[in-house]
Amino acid sequence: MTTPPAGLEGPERRDFIREIVAADVAAGRVDAPVTRFPPEPNGYLHIGHAKSICLNFGVAAEFGGRCHLRFDDTNPEKEEQEFLDAIEADVRWLGFDWGEHLYHASDYFEQLYGWAGHLIEAGLAYVDDQSADQIRETRGTLTGPGRDSPWRDRPAAESLDLFARMRAGEFPNGARVLRARIDMASPNLNLRDPILYRIVHASHPRTGDAWCVYPTYDFAHGQSDAIEGVTHSICTLEFENHRPLYDWLIEHLPVPHVPRQVEFARLNLTHTVLSKRVLLRLVQEGRVRGWDDPRMPTISGLRRRGFPAEGIRDFAAMIGVAKTDSVIEVGQLEFAVRAVLNRTAPRRFGVLDPLKVVITNWPGDRIEAMEVVNNPEDPAAGERPVAFGRELWIEREDFLEEPPPKFFRLAPGREVRLRNAYFITCDEVVKDESGTVVELRCTYDPATRGGDAPDGRRPKATLHWVSTAHAVPAEIRLYDHLFAQPFPGAGGTDLFGDLNHASETIVHGAMLEPALADAPVGATVQFERLGYFVKDPDSGPDAPVFNRTLTLRDTWARVRASG
Ligand code: ATP
Ligand code: MG
Repeated sequence: MTTPPAGLEGPERRDFIREIVAADVAAGRVDAPVTRFPPEPNGYLHIGHAKSICLNFGVAAEFGGRCHLRFDDTNPEKEEQEFLDAIEADVRWLGFDWGEHLYHASDYFEQLYGWAGHLIEAGLAYVDDQSADQIRETRGTLTGPGRDSPWRDRPAAESLDLFARMRAGEFPNGARVLRARIDMASPNLNLRDPILYRIVHASHPRTGDAWCVYPTYDFAHGQSDAIEGVTHSICTLEFENHRPLYDWLIEHLPVPHVPRQVEFARLNLTHTVLSKRVLLRLVQEGRVRGWDDPRMPTISGLRRRGFPAEGIRDFAAMIGVAKTDSVIEVGQLEFAVRAVLNRTAPRRFGVLDPLKVVITNWPGDRIEAMEVVNNPEDPAAGERPVAFGRELWIEREDFLEEPPPKFFRLAPGREVRLRNAYFITCDEVVKDESGTVVELRCTYDPATRGGDAPDGRRPKATLHWVSTAHAVPAEIRLYDHLFAQPFPGAGGTDLFGDLNHASETIVHGAMLEPALADAPVGATVQFERLGYFVKDPDSGPDAPVFNRTLTLRDTWARVRASG
């Protein structure tokens, strides 16, 4: 039995899949559900897969069953060990555990080969010598029937012999295929003598060169489900019209168990793409740094971006499971992530675009340790000391020499609060020859330590700051949506024409409070007033790199409030 991860406990919304499982359990058709998550190891997992993972592992956990991780590794030309490893790591990181139930379709190659022979002997499959083009041409259309292959009625003994020789490596790729013998006039194209085996001379990541015939998805999937005792084979809607074939194969084979296929709507998300083929292209064409680029919708990209697993699971629970395709606003994912980070991310001071402040009435080189709250949402997170002295960095955009009416931050002659420190007033603006402001000379009010004035006066703005003597310089990578358009490619244009050219902005020379230099890679923090950030693996010992996970602003909440 799988333990539900935090965030999935408690009464789960009953979607139609959970209704089906509950009914099967209530009627005694199954004791406890057995589900599986069946990735093909031909790329990295993305947020759409996360929906399927949360559903399969979630249903199993809620009904006291189990969920398998099964690699659908039937296509050696596209599969790699790197993908197998990354998929396992990603499912685990999302918070799910398959226990001892790690399987591969390739574990069943011998059994599947035997069952193919069984179909041939029963007159339900035949070796077809036609080329791929001929098979396509004779398949018929949605409105017209297909035509029988000239090899459809060849004797079973001949097919058996040829199938064995296919396996033995006697024929080149594409020379022959094994097809089920069902009905070339079926209104369902999937039943028009579908291909069960192809000749593929390619090394497989797990079985090496042991095989040169490989089962198709349709032949491998249901039979693997049957071998593993899967009760509910949950897949996405595009497999709905494969279900008659799934059931036909199960019915005509001596399988140990009868699984049931149930389809749900795949996740689509705005401003990104959830297709492994396109994601692979982005990586291969160097449009992103790799599969784990923080702009990618991959699990590894979201992790590097700083999205917590809990936020992704909450998102999956929030969108639920339905039977009609739809596109989810990416703001919903960001909403779920912000909710978790707001609770958990410690607050820190970081200045992205530093402007120097000199406090002219500060007593010499004195350094004071200011007590700063780590997380106002979490009293248990406590406080930390942050060094404050004569020279500070503030955010350049927090000062304007000629402030417009609604600008309440620092300006000549104006007083503001430095968060958890003192009130300061700007007395003098220092510029270089080009007229750029390079320094502000200010005075502080010693009576306002901690950020409150005894006379009750309240500046309209509170700024974040970092002591120049203690600051650690850092590289900051700011991220935005990978695609500028909500529905990339929808205008009939090339998909990559819709890439957002401002999806990554690199900032050098940001100044951070010193504790951030020692933060471990993957640590998430909130830079006060700026957003949520995560330490990137590109960080060096004294050269931290932080990625902006999200800004603080919650556009989804506004959309919801107005809609
Ligand atoms: P392809 O088959 O084109 O390589 P795929 O996205 O279907 O891509 P799989 O590895 O076969 O990749 O998917 C594994 C499981 O994840 C399948 O059960 C599939 O239905 C499910 N899945 C894939 N994409 C989504 C999505 N966008 N939303 C929900 N589930 C998905
Ligand atoms: Mg697939």
